[in-house]
Amino acid sequence: MDNCIFCKIAKKEIPKEFIYEDEDVMVFPDIHPVKPIHLLVVPKKHIVDLLDLDEPLLLEKLHNTLKIVIREKNLSELGYRTVINGGGAQEVPHLHIHLMGPIQPAQTL
Ligand code: 5GP
Ligand code: ZN
Repeated sequence: MDNCIFCKIAKKEIPKEFIYEDEDVMVFPDIHPVKPIHLLVVPKKHIVDLLDLDEPLLLEKLHNTLKIVIREKNLSELGYRTVINGGGAQEVPHLHIHLMGPIQPAQTL
């Protein structure tokens, strides 16, 4: 989609260092991290939010990517939180999963 920042990142129109990338999914650091590790797991295809996602295979890929990155960043030991905003609560209207850590039990944002 023209004017979408994450589509531009997916098309490499904006340079970005990816933590992980395959043909469908990309992972890069949030520009304004709220935790020492704050990554965005993003489908390359423009999908606005969860209500717009009707591809089980893509959901599975996002899940598998999360598992890879959680383990790679040792967040399985340090604690992590995932967040998906939608329905107008998003700053960027292109589906993405925030992955943040380390997180202690009962710690708030
Ligand atoms: P949302 O509120 O849409 O769930 O969160 C969007 C996130 O994207 C925010 O945490 C914001 O800091 C991040 N963000 C916005 N623009 C950019 C950008 O150009 N590059 C990166 N890496 N993150 C961005
Ligand atoms: Zn987009």
